Amino acid sequence: MGSCISNEDCPNCKWEGCVVETYTNGHQWAFCERCGYAYNNGNGTEEGAEETKNPKGAWRIMIKGTGGKVGRITNLKEIQKGMKSFVKEEKDVEVCCYTFKKGKKWYVHDLLNNRKMLHSEWLLYIEALQELER
Ligand SMILES: [Zn+2]
Repeated sequence: MGSCISNEDCPNCKWEGCVVETYTNGHQWAFCERCGYAYNNGNGTEEGAEETKNPKGAWRIMIKGTGGKVGRITNLKEIQKGMKSFVKEEKDVEVCCYTFKKGKKWYVHDLLNNRKMLHSEWLLYIEALQELER
């Protein structure tokens, strides 16, 4: 089967960090951690493809010592509620945030530190955090 991984600009928000994986059997999937755009053609045909139209953003949770989880937002109020109790109840939460768009720019709401920042600033923060752990 084999696979090739390529980074292409997100078809929705044009972010260059969108992950697109194409396998030699025709299977292709994509996920954008900025806008939540997702694509999966499952069986490798265009007919079976699932695509998220008009994504509302993405959420991310990381607990110390684990890889963390990401997903797309389907209901923002539910995500906000869930994340607030998650931060209160769980120990060792390292990252708990979601993205949102305001005007033409993408922002990140960091619930752990209760602050909002530009997505580009957020990337620098995450990079520094991961650098510390190495
Ligand atoms: Zn995107």
